Amino acid sequence: MNMLFFGPNGSGKGTQGAIIKERQRIPHIETGVIFRENISKGTELGKMAKSSIDRGELVSDEITIPMVLNRLKEDDCINGWLLDGFPRNLNQAVRLNKTLSHESIDINVLIEIILDREIAKKRIMGRRLCVNDNNHPNNINIEAIRPDGDKCRICGGELKKRDDDQDEAAIDQRHDIYYNTKNGTIAAVKYYKNLSETNGVPVIVELDGRNSVEEVTKELIEKLGNVI
Ligand code: AMP
Repeated sequence: MNMLFFGPNGSGKGTQGAIIKERQRIPHIETGVIFRENISKGTELGKMAKSSIDRGELVSDEITIPMVLNRLKEDDCINGWLLDGFPRNLNQAVRLNKTLSHESIDINVLIEIILDREIAKKRIMGRRLCVNDNNHPNNINIEAIRPDGDKCRICGGELKKRDDDQDEAAIDQRHDIYYNTKNGTIAAVKYYKNLSETNGVPVIVELDGRNSVEEVTKELIEKLGNVI
C-alpha cells in the first residue's frame, strides 16, 4: 500500500503518520526528518539543505527529488510506504507520478489533513519535540497535549524546540508554499485529486484537522478501513 500524506505544518501529520506506520506496517518517510538527520550528522546533503530549511524555503528539487526516489527503492519499501512532506510542489508531484507510472507503481491512497492557516501557525509555535521520540505529542498551545511542566507528557524526556518553529517569517514562508494553489503543495494535492477523478486512484481521504488528535485518528481509521 503506497500512501501520500498531506497537511500544513502544524496539522498533526507526524502524530497521525506514526499511527498509520504501525497499523499498515510500512515505513513513514518524512523528508523533513531525513534533512534534519543529515544536518545533525554534518553530511554533504545536510550542508546543502540547511540554509533553505532555516529560511523555511524548499530545498531544491534537484536535491530533493532523487533523494526521495532513491529512498523508495530501499528494501523496507517493498510492501509500501507512507510519504510525508513530499511532494511539496507541483513539479515534485508530476515527477513522482511519472517515475512511479513508468515502473507501474500506483499511489493507492492520498490522505489530506485540512486545516486553516492561522490555527496551524499557533500550533507550530507551541509544539515541543521530545528528545526520546519526536512523535510523542507535546504542545503548549493545545490543552489536551500540554507538556508536563517542561518535560515530555509521555515519557518525561527533555523537550526541545525546532529552530524553524519559532521563527514567524519561516513559518509564514512554509505556509505560503503549502497553501499556494498555483504550483505549491495544494497544487500538488489538486493534481492527484484530478488523477483520482480520472483513474479512481489514488483514493482520497480528507480529515478535519481542527479536531483533537484522538478525533483525527478516529476519522482516519474509519475512513482508511473503508478503502483498504
Ligand atoms: P518539515 O519537517 O516537513 O516541516 O520540513 C522541514 C523543511 O525541510 C522544509 O521547510 C523544507 O525546507 C525542507 N523540505 C522538506 N520536505 C521537502 C520537499 N519535499 N522539498 C523541498 N524541501 C523540503
